[in-house]
Amino acid sequence: MISYTDLFGGQRAKLVPAAAIADMQRDGASFAGFATWLDLTPAHPDLFAVPDPSSVIRLPWNKDVAWVAADCIMDDAPVEQAPRVLLKRLIAEAAREGLRVKTGVEAEFFLISPDGSKISDEFDTAQKPCYDQQAVMRRYDVIAEICDSMLELGWKPYQNDHEDANGQFEMNWEYDDALRTADKHSFFKFMVKSIAEKHGLRATFMPKPFKGLTGNGCHAHISVWDLDGEVNAFADKSMPFGLSAQGKHFLGGIMKHASALAAVTNPTVNSYKRINAPRTTSGATWAPNAVTWTGNNRTHMVRVPGPGRFELRLPDGAVNPYLLQAIIIAAGLSGIRSKADPGQHHDIDMYAAGHTVTDAPRLPLNLLDALREYEKDEVLQKALGNAFSSAYLKLKHNEWNMYCSQFTSWEHATTLDI
Ligand code: ADP
Ligand code: MG
Ligand code: MG
Ligand code: MG
Ligand code: MG
Repeated sequence: MISYTDLFGGQRAKLVPAAAIADMQRDGASFAGFATWLDLTPAHPDLFAVPDPSSVIRLPWNKDVAWVAADCIMDDAPVEQAPRVLLKRLIAEAAREGLRVKTGVEAEFFLISPDGSKISDEFDTAQKPCYDQQAVMRRYDVIAEICDSMLELGWKPYQNDHEDANGQFEMNWEYDDALRTADKHSFFKFMVKSIAEKHGLRATFMPKPFKGLTGNGCHAHISVWDLDGEVNAFADKSMPFGLSAQGKHFLGGIMKHASALAAVTNPTVNSYKRINAPRTTSGATWAPNAVTWTGNNRTHMVRVPGPGRFELRLPDGAVNPYLLQAIIIAAGLSGIRSKADPGQHHDIDMYAAGHTVTDAPRLPLNLLDALREYEKDEVLQKALGNAFSSAYLKLKHNEWNMYCSQFTSWEHATTLDI
């Protein structure tokens, strides 16, 4: 299964029999690029997805098939806007400055009914369902199969739980180099959906699938190391929060570009119903509303849970696994280069006292706001490259326009008698 990821995070694949793999392994599998989200035209020549052998994974739930992540090539040149190509370029840029970015992601998901209308477990109704022991055991067969698969793949999974929304789960495995984490993140989504289907269920990573319930976040934990991966350059126990000067500059870049970053970390119309959201039935959304950071406190956009790393809580389940890593590196590197200051940390409960913070921007209220922030952010646009930035903005503006052309029951109900 030769697989590449398009700009909307869609995984596109061809199944190639082993008898025919030899040539494609070298030259790539051919695709009509226009048929996927890469901002190509029907007139473009063939897109070749060239497999990266270091990413190959034999599907734990179907041993006949091996998945391999591929890089997009056209006319013998890399397709600059293709997410995995873009991420590799930024990783190489970081390496030229002696930096190696390692990240972990927490890809939350819901197990729902096959028609997508409701959560799959009718008994999962607690007001505070987080860590619900009984409910997680009712989904033991699915969770155990996914966790066993990760063990078999050597990902070092270490915990699985019921999350804060009814029907929601999280499974964690150990952090790795940014490209490895992006490949694992992609494969994890494929695996969770496939194993859920095998058990007669459906899995969704949609940012806010059910009104009133906590949404699907995809927090990213970030640290930067020396090129050998031995010394954590973010760790300095003598500094506040155990974060080195370099760590603070990297964080400064994230803080400075946060509103524009949201165009990628929160890439759908639905994403903005998770951030800036009213309180959920569980008592908290666990999602940020403003561009703030602090120590070990989950009400902010960035949390520093311990020395040597920080957690970006902004991204949601719709985030493209490769673009997530790429934009973190792009913003972080620009922060290091400009010695950016992350600004004042606000050690308060943002849900209760957020209104008292006057020196931090609010996060974009919708996808259009985020796209406009991205358009204003020349540094980030340049770091991600013109090919990507123009393609992404064009496709996402189209998506926004499609959304605006929807005629909703809400506007009918509120405007009919005006
Ligand atoms: P929480 O729910 O408290 O935010 P989790 O345990 O669910 O945290 O997820 C933490 C993630 O951060 C995991 O993927 C873990 O491997 C990763 N992580 C831990 N230390 C580092 C580090 N130094 N750099 C990057 N990621 C890290
Ligand atoms: Mg055909
Ligand atoms: Mg977690
Ligand atoms: Mg969580
Ligand atoms: Mg987290």
